[in-house]
Formats: sequence, structure tokens, C-alpha cells
Amino acid sequence: MRAINSDERQLLESLLVSAQPLSKDGPNLTTQERRALINSLHSLDVETSCTCHTCISLSFTGQRRALDITTVLSAEVEGGSALILLHIIDGAVRELEIAPTGNLPVSALPNPDVLIF
Ligand SMILES: [Zn+2]
Repeated sequence: MRAINSDERQLLESLLVSAQPLSKDGPNLTTQERRALINSLHSLDVETSCTCHTCISLSFTGQRRALDITTVLSAEVEGGSALILLHIIDGAVRELEIAPTGNLPVSALPNPDVLIF
């Protein structure tokens, strides 16, 4: 287990500000809920990371569960090369998945500038 690094934190923050539910009728976070999750990112630890060398998937622990919401937020990487899913479970950030949509593996965290919401 390790603390999240600053790149991970920036990406999570950007997703928590702007990403919308994967399912159009999926539960959405209010601005206040988004802010609460961002404010407690400092307590987030990376529990596991995928070692498949194709995707980047991180599971998290440590965030206090202050909210009662479970949802999946999504974003795309510019050019459509990857799909990003952020799983909020029982009011805590629990998993980040960055999966390639084509044949090219995801080798690095995307810069928040290239996200499409
Ligand atoms: Zn993987």
C-alpha cells in the first residue's frame, strides 16, 4: 500500500470535478459531494494496481465514507484511445480504471488536459 502520488491526485481531482455517470440514468454526484470527495483525497492510499501492462487500474482505500452514494463516473481520453472509469462505492473513491479502446496499451496516466467529459 502507498499514498497516491501527485499525478494520480490531479487526475482524480479533474475526474471528480467534471466526469459524468457512465450510465445516463446512473446516480450523479452533487457539487457538494464532489467537493467532499476532493477534499479527502489526501487520505487516499493505493491498495492494488493491475500488472497486466495493458490497462492502468488502481484500487484505493483509506478514504472516510462520509457520503451515501455508489456510482461510476466516466471520461474519455482525447482521440478515443482509452476509457476512464472512476468507481465511487459507498461514498468513497475505490477504483480507477483506464482501459484502452484499441490495440495500444495504456502506458501512462493521461494528463487531465486531454480528458473529454
Ligand atoms: Zn490491467
